[in-house]
Amino acid sequence: MPDTSKTIALISGANKGIGLEIARQLGQRGLTVLLGARDPERGQNAAAKLAGDRLDVRFVELDLGRRETIAAASAWIAAGFGKLDILVNNAGIADPADGLPGTADIEAVQRIMQTNFLGALAVAQGMLPLLRKSPAGRIVNVSSGLGSLTFNRDFASQFADVKLIGYCASKAAVNMLTVHLAYELRDTPIKVNSADPGYTTTDLNGHRGFQTVEQGAAEAIRLAFLPADGPTGSFSATAGPEPW
Ligand code: NAP
Repeated sequence: MPDTSKTIALISGANKGIGLEIARQLGQRGLTVLLGARDPERGQNAAAKLAGDRLDVRFVELDLGRRETIAAASAWIAAGFGKLDILVNNAGIADPADGLPGTADIEAVQRIMQTNFLGALAVAQGMLPLLRKSPAGRIVNVSSGLGSLTFNRDFASQFADVKLIGYCASKAAVNMLTVHLAYELRDTPIKVNSADPGYTTTDLNGHRGFQTVEQGAAEAIRLAFLPADGPTGSFSATAGPEPW
């Protein structure tokens, strides 16, 4: 019989960047953290490092492009833990061939949508039966201010020049996933919300972001621990709600 007394969290793309920091902070709060990564060596190394800090962190193979790894991870979690309490859909990519709609490489846009949107959807679907077994399931979809139609439409905004049709559309689609899944689960204890980490220094942006990963992880962590009367179907950053 699996031990269901512990709080179990799964984070996709957790071998580095914001996902790794989310894994660390969830581990520091005493959770059992399932560190999802597509590359076993990178994932095992990251999990071993956190485990070396006496955190309960275990690697699980999760490649958003290989659905069989999602099914295998779900079966492994079911056998070992019987439920999942927190899912952070964090894995994501950008692509140098992305750009303005007139010139962006279509294959690059497809790759981005495949990972950032379809990957998050597939992981949510794969983990839903386990989240339904939690007394208080929480799904955090890591989105971006670049997924906000309102911000994109503001031609005077700080990020007005960042018109990456693939990346921005993928994050808008992630926000749609948040809203639709929150609706589907409205009569359950599960809450589904989008977190905007803010511009954070990671490999994704060549370390041009001006926030630390600790700052980038903060909103996802807050949403992972929402109380029973907290919001569902929301989109927020540490400064507060974001416009869709
Ligand atoms: P990062 O350091 O590049 O980390 C991205 C993670 O996603 C890596 O672990 C990567 O694994 C993983 N990943 C990529 N494709 C995958 C796939 N097919 N299957 C499984 N894992 C995959 O980037 P980050 O900045 O921490 O990004 C984390 C999330 O925050 C992303 O969703 C990103 O869009 C979002 N975000 C970031 C910023 C920012 O300023 N950094 C701002 C807003 C939103 P590998 O190491 O194997 O490549």
